[in-house]
Amino acid sequence: MTWRTHFMGGIVSLWLLPLGTPYWSVALAIVFASIGSLLPDLDARESKLSNVQVGGITPLKPAAYALNRRLGHRGPMHSLLGLFFVAVIFGIPLGLFLDPLAGIGLVLGYLSHLLLDACTKSGIPLYWPKPGKIHLLPSGFRVVTGSWQEDLVFLLLTFAATGFLLGQLFTSSNRISNDSTTSPFITQYQSTIHQSS
Ligand SMILES: [Zn+2]
Repeated sequence: MTWRTHFMGGIVSLWLLPLGTPYWSVALAIVFASIGSLLPDLDARESKLSNVQVGGITPLKPAAYALNRRLGHRGPMHSLLGLFFVAVIFGIPLGLFLDPLAGIGLVLGYLSHLLLDACTKSGIPLYWPKPGKIHLLPSGFRVVTGSWQEDLVFLLLTFAATGFLLGQLFTSSNRISNDSTTSPFITQYQSTIHQSS
């Protein structure tokens, strides 16, 4: 699948969040689900994430080349083991030190990438290092990357992502000021304001 389909898939994976989640947490979940949804393709030299430009340079390019050379495209980065390592190395620290939904978003986004790639003709080595590719769809229904079928998947995901955003938008209002699940940063900020007034 192309990056835009994975990106939408990452947003759609956040349907698993409860309605009424505070805005701050939803925003972080969206940011990190987006990153997570593109992260497995860091094992490809020409992926979106590999070519992200910051100040005229592509900081992730060396990592992408190294991963591609050592692991190959659609290798361990597209497996449950890859998901496990990303969850432990990045997801848990994000959840502990930033916001639980930042870590959860990253893991859900990553998982959505694996599920979408498992719907393609090539499949994924889900149980790497065990050999063999896993497919979620019967052979006649598998999606070819860049085909009109992928465009259709992208369109459906876009509708679902819009539904998610609207659902959260209409249920999250007023939650940011007095919700106990608000980010620790905001809670701390509010108590500082309280003390100084
Ligand atoms: Zn992929």
